[in-house]
Amino acid sequence: MYSIGIDLGGTSAQVVAVKKDKILFHTSILVRDNSSLQHILSDLSNCIDKFRISRPEALVSIGIAFPSIVDAPNNKILSQYVKYPDAVGFDLENWAKIKFGTALFLENDARAALIGENHFGLAKGYGNSCFLTLGTGIGSAIMLDGKLLRGSNHLAGNLLGHTIIQYDGGKCNCNGIGCAESEGSGWWLNNKFHEINREDLCDQGFKALLEPENVSSPIFQEILTQLIKVYKTIMINAVHCYDPEIIILGGGIAEGMNTYIPVFQKAIEQHCWIPPGTVKIMKSSLGIYAGAIGAACLYLNRDSKTPLNAT
Ligand SMILES: [Zn+2]
Repeated sequence: MYSIGIDLGGTSAQVVAVKKDKILFHTSILVRDNSSLQHILSDLSNCIDKFRISRPEALVSIGIAFPSIVDAPNNKILSQYVKYPDAVGFDLENWAKIKFGTALFLENDARAALIGENHFGLAKGYGNSCFLTLGTGIGSAIMLDGKLLRGSNHLAGNLLGHTIIQYDGGKCNCNGIGCAESEGSGWWLNNKFHEINREDLCDQGFKALLEPENVSSPIFQEILTQLIKVYKTIMINAVHCYDPEIIILGGGIAEGMNTYIPVFQKAIEQHCWIPPGTVKIMKSSLGIYAGAIGAACLYLNRDSKTPLNAT
């Protein structure tokens, strides 16, 4: 018996199959059209069907990680994400039941990534952990005393990217002012590239700031400095709000963050009310598959630290 996990992003979907403590299969599917769920569900069905042919044993569940506010206990997508506008209200449970005859579990993508790290990765054994997705936006999830934070509107721990770090700062895509995302994030970086007439760098994103021809330029240095300051601020705020033992960095920008992890570590030691060395900061060990792996584990107990092989 195995489970399928899907991390549904706007440009690609990651798919994994998990059995006990093993990841049987993983692949990434390019999203052809993110104006509706229809195309991607069809592509996902084909991918799952192909895998099922090779594994005659029972498929126990499908888990989906989605980048918006999710009412996980009731399997509902609550907020509209810029992609897949028809996702709110879409009956994914019915899709899984009709197509595969199996149960479906939904979760926010950052929470799913933390669940994945908790079962298979760096958060294993930690009761207090924080996952930060540093990509186009900034996603977050928090586990405290072994329980995922959810809150009264399902957004607890999810919105560190929309905490206000500059009260008279820039306008955010959430209509807020001076959110962490509007002061430094992947989409903020693209706006900066447009401002300096370097739209050609948007495809490279954060990596462009580290290119030898750009690294000594004062304009690029200023952009990089602000971005790192924003990430530092989020991590300091996360420590003061949630007191985690470990902060795990995922998302596309985290891929280039090795050099800056000691900078974040030092900032926490300088500015947080905790003994030095008590918070670890590490890059995700599961990479782009953290969310999909966590989604595959949702059928166990979405708030539990129970290892997958305990069932
Ligand atoms: Zn915002």
